[in-house]
Amino acid sequence: MTSYQSDITAIVGAQWGDEGKGKITDFFAGNSDYVVRFHGGNNAGHTVIVDGETYKLHLIPSGIVYGSPVSIIANGVVVDPKALIDEIAYVINKGITPKLMVSDRAHVIMPYHIALDSVLSGHQAKLAAGSTGRGIAPVYADKMFRNGIRIIDLLEPDIFKEKLKKGYSFSKNLIEKALGGTFDISMDSIYDDYIEYGNKLNSYVCDTSVELFNAHKSGKSILFEGAQGISLDVDHGIYPYTTSSNTAAGHISTGTGVSFRDIGKIIGVVKAYLSRVGESPLPTEIHGEEANNLREKGAEYGTTTGRPRRVGWLDLVQVRQAVRVNGLTEIALTKLDILNGFKTLPICISYEIEGKQVKEMPASLHDYRCAKPVYTSLPGWGDLPNNIWDMGFDALPKTMKEYISYIETEVECPVKIISVGPQRHETILR
Ligand code: GDP
Repeated sequence: MTSYQSDITAIVGAQWGDEGKGKITDFFAGNSDYVVRFHGGNNAGHTVIVDGETYKLHLIPSGIVYGSPVSIIANGVVVDPKALIDEIAYVINKGITPKLMVSDRAHVIMPYHIALDSVLSGHQAKLAAGSTGRGIAPVYADKMFRNGIRIIDLLEPDIFKEKLKKGYSFSKNLIEKALGGTFDISMDSIYDDYIEYGNKLNSYVCDTSVELFNAHKSGKSILFEGAQGISLDVDHGIYPYTTSSNTAAGHISTGTGVSFRDIGKIIGVVKAYLSRVGESPLPTEIHGEEANNLREKGAEYGTTTGRPRRVGWLDLVQVRQAVRVNGLTEIALTKLDILNGFKTLPICISYEIEGKQVKEMPASLHDYRCAKPVYTSLPGWGDLPNNIWDMGFDALPKTMKEYISYIETEVECPVKIISVGPQRHETILR
């Protein structure tokens, strides 16, 4: 088969999510013909600020705020149709006409998935990442059980009825008989609501894999927007403290139907410190006054849930894995401005686990719980000059350049994008 010139870029999280992927995606979206989500659902949250206007998006790709690129919700995404309809209304309200396509193969979050999520949170207790309660794990589980309902089914009433009967009774039994919960919404009312959602979404639904294939063939540029980050990847992350999908770039192929050999550039977004929502050990976590200051300065509160995020120092063991597993071609380093004024900046370069130096993420939960961060401390920088983004990389403080160069050497990946503020223009390219 012919291989076409690649103008395909992927942007993925290299930590625990909330690294600023939305901002970096938005930065590139203007030059893209398509911006595509390939996994996860409305458990993700991106904040994009353009010309002082803030956009909070959960399901629709951040590129929507540009107006010109086509936004695609591909087959690897799980869609709560009501949430999508509301988000479409939100962007229309902001004055944007959404150019949106939704994969006919994307799986649909049903009310019983949300109910199951809530019943399951007691069962998961502290041995899983805290759920956002949006039905994400149950819908992915149903996909694998082959009980799932796909967007196309909402457009075919007879098939929908057939599949709903199967999915409904399975989940209702699970909720009530296995897990001791209750689920009172009738199958008929779900049927009516979801047929109505299908009617509302019908004009957006298509085979997005074929659309992307043809777009690539005709030289259009495509941007893949990851949600969450590598440590939340269900295979490579800190299982079971992960999300229920693959966040790594490798999932782009199955989650969109675009071959991995066509992806030219893979950008990993790394925040200059760490934040994490929910359970799991976090070796570089900081506490008390120091943590409060960093959390306040960095506004580390969840976009979707509003939960205060745990915070810590940059962990290069984690970033090293992100570089390897995603095949990162470059790093976008964000929120460097939040570290302005720190005298020294600790960076974790390895873990000490029961007396051994470990440079790669352990699979063993026992080891991860015991991991003690080994830090190198680098000198900080003061305040950045105003309009530093207009002055370019060379004008950055010497200690900041040394900090960046240290990261590059440790993880063997170039830092090509430097972000020093939430707004689109507060970005320096190298
Ligand atoms: P995402 O899910 O990875 O897109 O990240 P979030 O949207 O949850 O969190 C990133 C937050 O940091 C957003 O509020 C961004 O506007 C903001 N942000 C992104 N880059 C920078 C930066 O370089 N400096 C500052 N101060 N804020 C940033």
